[in-house]
Amino acid sequence: MGKVLKQRIWESFCELLNDDTTLINYVNYYVAVADWMKSNLAEFDYSIIKRNGIEQLLSVDASEYVVENPDISLEMEPMRIFENKPNTVDSFVMIIKNLLRDLTTIWTDKDCPGCGDGGLRYFIYETVSSHERHLVLECYVCIYAELADGTEWDAGLANVFPANKNDLESFK
Ligand SMILES: [Zn+2]
Repeated sequence: MGKVLKQRIWESFCELLNDDTTLINYVNYYVAVADWMKSNLAEFDYSIIKRNGIEQLLSVDASEYVVENPDISLEMEPMRIFENKPNTVDSFVMIIKNLLRDLTTIWTDKDCPGCGDGGLRYFIYETVSSHERHLVLECYVCIYAELADGTEWDAGLANVFPANKNDLESFK
């Protein structure tokens, strides 16, 4: 079940979305949410932050990673967020994760061989043990993940970063 999300935190996040400058464009949106998250990090248990890979998402330069046409409508965004108020801290942090990921997602043209349902998107996986970086195609729906050559990802624990065009180039 997890901890209940504090009303104060939710209201602060809603204020951010109601701020005229937040949703001017996608890069702005990413920066606004990332900055808000950075200044509120102490409100969340580190285990939740870590599990959702929030630090990795906060570490990238939005202007280099936010894609041109994410699957998000800036006009509809406040409504989408407000209508789905999460009850727990876990679901709130997951919403932030999904949002920052959606804004930086480069899709592959492959469907997931694991569940057959989701599309695969690119991420950079950096292994915890050796800090090696791998270009990984990960399913949007299930936990399936594969390397660019089609072999299933099985190199163990990794931190997940968004992948941008330059990353895709460098792994060709
Ligand atoms: Zn899948």
